[in-house]
Amino acid sequence: MKITVTGAAGYIGSHACLRLLDDGHQVHGLDNFSRSFPRTVDALQRAGGDRFHFTQVQLTDQAATAAALQLHPPEIVMHFAAFAVVPESVKFPLIYWHNNVGATVSLLHAMDAVDARKIIFSSTCATYGEPNAARIPIGEDCPQRPTHAYGESKLACEHMMKAWVQSHALADRDRGVVFLRYFNVAGGDYLDRIGEDHDPETHLVPICLRAATGRHPELVVYGNDYPTPDGTCIRDYVHVEDLVAAHIEAIKVIPRRETLAMNVGTGNGASVLEVLHACSAAAGRPVPFAFGPRRDGDPPRLVSNPEKIFRLTNWRPARSSLESITQSAWRWFAKEKKST
Ligand code: UDP
Repeated sequence: MKITVTGAAGYIGSHACLRLLDDGHQVHGLDNFSRSFPRTVDALQRAGGDRFHFTQVQLTDQAATAAALQLHPPEIVMHFAAFAVVPESVKFPLIYWHNNVGATVSLLHAMDAVDARKIIFSSTCATYGEPNAARIPIGEDCPQRPTHAYGESKLACEHMMKAWVQSHALADRDRGVVFLRYFNVAGGDYLDRIGEDHDPETHLVPICLRAATGRHPELVVYGNDYPTPDGTCIRDYVHVEDLVAAHIEAIKVIPRRETLAMNVGTGNGASVLEVLHACSAAAGRPVPFAFGPRRDGDPPRLVSNPEKIFRLTNWRPARSSLESITQSAWRWFAKEKKST
């Protein structure tokens, strides 16, 4: 299939490209390198040969995005490109509205111009906000009440895409969207070709590994007074390859003239301290840490109810144990560290 991947140089987008290329698809990657690195595209080019094309484009630029899609009109779009740092979105909400929502407006226009009808959208459990305890584990029917601009921008995109599908249906045209609402994604490629690397880095697993090797000062654990067994926040961690596998399954269930929302999480939660200990076991050395104040926008516990994706697809998490996530993250990190 011909698949356009936005955010192709980013953490999750690049892992998706690799898997699609490994599966024999033709992939057109788009990225502006605002938070990602050209060397990732080099790795994709090595893996994909002439089945991989790349265009550097600013998605908020409608004309440029339309021109990019014209180069290789897709059968399916996977839309990963977005800013995704919660505390940053609390401080600078407008860049989230501009970048995340603006890019999606451009992309839908561009898809219409080439009659591309199907899109899988990277949504987030942050659209649920802070569900009350009775709603956890979180099902897709949980009310969506985001508590920060990142979650709000992703929810706005969901609403926009729903309206897009409905407007086409009224005109007797097919459009279909799957919203995959991600929980916490971590880990790296099974062949260590790429891994998790943001600039600036704010995510727990890579920060733990950097701290373990002295490349980052001690990890600050944001809050140890949450109502959880060890006082630190609980998240549902999904291996990036399992997450990408959910996209492969989603291709098979893209609806006609409708949207379909599915959570991508395992149903198991792990605390910050549990992740820290797993990182330290993977790295074979302690992760220095200190407790600090809570971080804005962090709910105590976010765990998925995966029943819907289990029911509608063959997706099952296969690599999402903390051990498997942190070992793959460490292998790539250690390899990169040698070469940089
Ligand atoms: N976290 C932490 N210290 C850090 C980074 C993250 O304690 O330096 C915690 C954070 O409060 C959250 C969990 O680790 O409970 C996962 O955070 P991350 O930023 O990786 O993902 P998010 O949940 O924001 O998508």
